[in-house]
Amino acid sequence: MSAKNPEIIKVSGPLVEAKNMEQSKMYEVVRVGSEGLVGEVIKLEGGNASIQVYEETAGVGPGEPVKLTGQTLSVELGPGLLETIYDGIQRPLKAIEEASGHFMARGIDAPGLDQTRKWDFVAVKSKGDKVKAGDVLGTVQETTLINHKIMVPAGVESGTVKSIQSGHFKVSDTVAVVEDQNGKERDVALRHFWPIRVSRPIKNKRIPNVPLVTGCRSTDMFFPLTKGGAGCIPGPFGSGKTVTQQTVAKYCDAEVIIYIGCGERGNEMTEVLEEFPHLIDPNSGEPLMKRTSMIANTSNMPVAAREASVYTGITIAEYYRDMGYDVALMADSTSRWAEAMREMSGRLEEMPGEEGYPAYLGSRTAEFYERAGAIECLGDEGRQGSLTVIGAVSPPGGDLSEPVSQNTLRVTKAYWGLDSKLSYQRHFPAINWLKSYSLYVPNLEKHHKDNTAADYWEVRETALGLLQEESKLQEIVRLVGPDALSTREKLVLLVSKSIREDFLFQDSFDADDAYTIPVKQYEMLKTIVTMYEEGMKLVDREELDFAKVEELPVIQKVAKIKELKADDLSTFESVRADIVKEFGAV
Ligand code: ADP
Repeated sequence: MSAKNPEIIKVSGPLVEAKNMEQSKMYEVVRVGSEGLVGEVIKLEGGNASIQVYEETAGVGPGEPVKLTGQTLSVELGPGLLETIYDGIQRPLKAIEEASGHFMARGIDAPGLDQTRKWDFVAVKSKGDKVKAGDVLGTVQETTLINHKIMVPAGVESGTVKSIQSGHFKVSDTVAVVEDQNGKERDVALRHFWPIRVSRPIKNKRIPNVPLVTGCRSTDMFFPLTKGGAGCIPGPFGSGKTVTQQTVAKYCDAEVIIYIGCGERGNEMTEVLEEFPHLIDPNSGEPLMKRTSMIANTSNMPVAAREASVYTGITIAEYYRDMGYDVALMADSTSRWAEAMREMSGRLEEMPGEEGYPAYLGSRTAEFYERAGAIECLGDEGRQGSLTVIGAVSPPGGDLSEPVSQNTLRVTKAYWGLDSKLSYQRHFPAINWLKSYSLYVPNLEKHHKDNTAADYWEVRETALGLLQEESKLQEIVRLVGPDALSTREKLVLLVSKSIREDFLFQDSFDADDAYTIPVKQYEMLKTIVTMYEEGMKLVDREELDFAKVEELPVIQKVAKIKELKADDLSTFESVRADIVKEFGAV
């Protein structure tokens, strides 16, 4: 007698239970109901399975069939990922829209890559060459910015190229045949599939010691990230998480950007989707999308798709890292991902942990951020790549003691804490300079000393110290008024104000101000710190009228320092010479 067919016994939102599922396995993709909605088996008990469904399940009911596919949830990796906007399970939004109009129909099969488009494959290996996993067999110019590498698949420890040909191919066409160590012949196409919950193999991790330059003065100078680092941006609603993530996506010096948007508000992702395709990469002058792949969870998509989207995104990111690129991944906001986990866990009736989140929230968060890193790529070609991960967190009410923030802080080393007080004051980016930190500073010491300025770190230390002192002095001023301050303390307030207003304040919407190169950042801050050093020469003088210092014309010049052009650094030196002159003449 043949086994009974799998069928639905219960539907609870995005969770479907099915019976007769003996033939299935964990994380298998199944098609649910007569419409064939995409789902994934997340629990198997006897013949019963719990299935997380990535599409709206309204109208689906008990008795409908479930079809097994034998596949685990995977992404299709190959040329065409860039310039594409996907949903959480790698279906191109455009393809879905074409198939169903603006309101997504369900059960649509839309492969991740265009199956008909042909690409020019240029072989770099020849028949008879010895190869191993990760070696580049050939390349495809995917966009004007990115040369896509077709690599020997994982698992080939020592292989031989049996055949290979350059030419015009579809992603599914075989371009090479490699015989592996067991004599098994493997067809290599332009694309392959990779399960999203499994990190891609690497040769070694490297110590990340090159900055990811974002052009944002506050983060680059004070709280830097490395290429291959992991950072988080916690902040309450409206404090600037999305603007910060998008600004980094636009300006940072990674070569490939993967942007995962789990919209807070319904229309937020729509804004990104409309804006991004028109943006120009300031470094190359090319459209930004030529180096970008986006995963969008608009609010009409079910929660389960959010859960999958971070894995889909990070697997694509790892793939470009493996080609030797510096990749940056932004996830906005990971709180929505955690909430999706909580909802599924609740429906599965798992034992809840803190605030109803599943007990595995911490391990899932860690697994995600641990996929960041600077690496040596597989293969013998000495390629290096990096994957930087920046996750936004939106704690309800801005309370960082909640589980998602706490678990994220544990595994990320750069922390850009956004502050609603600063955003109310319209101080942007609203990164709190007293609470934020970066544990990557020691990694970057040599880089900036060698490449930016010998006293880079001294200038930074002085400036940060002044800001810390300022916050204490402000407290005193609040209590007893400014008259109680010594001349030195007045100087600290004067210079810190300049650090805040002339250096830290940066308008992401002002084309000239949104991005500052590191050497200009340094020159700006060095100039401001010079006011402190020159002022210090005056403070011991008896009967100094500090008001005279405050009125020096050069202070107005410093206030406009961001307008000076980076291509002529002598202009900064001349402002510093003015500072020395005017302070000296008080
Ligand atoms: P969140 O994602 O934290 O809810 P948003 O990123 O949407 O907050 O920011 C809210 C608003 O704050 C933006 O619409 C913008 O007006 C302002 N804003 C945030 N960051 C900046 C910035 N760096 N420069 C200028 N304006 C900003």
